[in-house]
Amino acid sequence: MLHSGSKQKIECALYVVATPIGNLRDITLHALDVLSSADVIAAEDTRNTAHLLKHFGIHAEELLALHQHNERKSVEKITNLLQEGRSVAFVTDAGTPAVSDPGALLVAGVAAAGYRVIPVAGPSAAVTALSASGLSMPHFLFYGFLPNRSAARCAVLSDLAVHPYTLVFYEAPHRILECVGDLRAVLGEEREIVIARELTKLFESIHRCRLGDAQAWLESDANNQRGEFVLLVSGAQEKAAGLSREHEQLLTILLDELPLKQAVKLATRISGGNKNELYTRALELKVTPDT
Ligand code: SAM
Repeated sequence: MLHSGSKQKIECALYVVATPIGNLRDITLHALDVLSSADVIAAEDTRNTAHLLKHFGIHAEELLALHQHNERKSVEKITNLLQEGRSVAFVTDAGTPAVSDPGALLVAGVAAAGYRVIPVAGPSAAVTALSASGLSMPHFLFYGFLPNRSAARCAVLSDLAVHPYTLVFYEAPHRILECVGDLRAVLGEEREIVIARELTKLFESIHRCRLGDAQAWLESDANNQRGEFVLLVSGAQEKAAGLSREHEQLLTILLDELPLKQAVKLATRISGGNKNELYTRALELKVTPDT
């Protein structure tokens, strides 16, 4: 597919450009405009980006490498280009730069030097996975890559275990089994996990199950362990704050015998507790009676 837009004069700025995570048709028109028009394209992997540009019929005037090993040093190079009045687009291999990818140091340096940073929004594996996960918590915690070693990974997971937010991880295929094993060991069998694999690609799969069943699913077919992964795990169940054991017991007994509203009303009268708190907890107990 060729991009019809020719090179236009664009504002001198650093453009942080998101690119597809698989399906090349997920590129945005804005990204194509900027990539066609920037004076310089800085890329995490120039060969990768050269393929992307070729696919869209874009000729880069100047392509330079900017990756995690030279990011710090590159800040000066990029600010010099901006000082000369040249526009710079920055892309990583896939998805949104600076999200578990290089970019944050560059952006901070360029902003500190007083130049404008313009985000060109587009795909990110984390948000793509969340959108199709079906996990309904109103909040999520994006962690990205967990530590490679099991002990360090478990220590991080113990800290995350208390949060009532959907947890979002990136993981490499060669660690997927080990990682899911640790998720189960630390977070327990009952939480939901969504294993989002090869998103927007030919062999995309989104598997939803209990954490306790995830290893068996991964082992049931070698293909289930191949490709790129986002793992999403449901958060800790939130208990209504401040509800004492006695109030909880009273509410549970009344809910067994009465409709919810009546049970809450009576529990409030008997216990003198907060009606809203009792009502919130009663709703939770009705949905998940075993919590
Ligand atoms: N900045 C990128 C983003 O916003 O999507 C993420 C870069 S990070 C270095 C790469 C990781 O993202 C992969 O190891 C994998 O965990 C996840 N990822 C990238 N593309 C994916 C895809 N198509 N399907 C599932 N996960 C993907």
